Amino acid sequence: MKTVDELDFSAETQKLFEIKAGAIKRTFEQRRIQTQLLDDEEAVKAFITEFIAKRPEIKSIAFSDGVTLYQLDLFNWIQKQYGPKGFMINQPLERSETGQYAIFGEQPPGRMNIPYNEWKILYDKWYDNLRMSLLSDLLIVSANAVTMNGEIISVDGLGNRVSGMIFGPRHVLCIVGRNKIVNDQASALDRIHNHVVPLTYLRHNLKHWCKFEDVPCLKIGKCVKCSHPESSCLNTVVVRGQVKQHQDRLHLIIVNQDLGF
Ligand code: SF4
Repeated sequence: MKTVDELDFSAETQKLFEIKAGAIKRTFEQRRIQTQLLDDEEAVKAFITEFIAKRPEIKSIAFSDGVTLYQLDLFNWIQKQYGPKGFMINQPLERSETGQYAIFGEQPPGRMNIPYNEWKILYDKWYDNLRMSLLSDLLIVSANAVTMNGEIISVDGLGNRVSGMIFGPRHVLCIVGRNKIVNDQASALDRIHNHVVPLTYLRHNLKHWCKFEDVPCLKIGKCVKCSHPESSCLNTVVVRGQVKQHQDRLHLIIVNQDLGF
């Protein structure tokens, strides 16, 4: 006799993913954003391999930052897979082992031990790498939320991630985990401002030597729609579709796993 395991929700979770992500896929594809529903890291890598193989125009690959991309091991894997083949790989926000931007080299924890002139040269190069990522043949990014109404929603302080999503790179792969699925714009923005952004500040404070203690959401525990000079929320981009002349540009991948936050 088959016994019921009341603690195992994998079948229910799988079914719910198929229902929700399937509906989102249908909506996006009506608006010319091809959407893949994939199970795991292996499936994502297989899709990217085929995607690049079918598009010989892709010679350069760039990334934005993103916990999702770390969890899928995409930074290391792309570098190993495509670097030796002569692809130009640009990861402007790559971190050193101590959490500083890699372009500055290894630094003593918690401080930058470089004379200002040298720091400025490296900083300008870092910023140029970010600008160059917007002209890559393939940009790989994640997003903050995907709504059941067919919207990819992201906030961005600097703007490099969201600008690349809407124009610049020849192709964009936007990869999100199932935990990023929300009902509508209001729930997306509520989740982003009260959960994603504070956690992102804490990630940078605790791992990357940043000092974002002053932003209101970290002081009082909720968003007050501030215009703080270091706010990550100064740009909000909602992608609903793309024009038919460029319908091979942005592709969405929804992974049946919780990725990022
Ligand atoms: S708008 Fe201000 S308070 Fe709200 S999440 Fe963004 S930085 Fe925090």
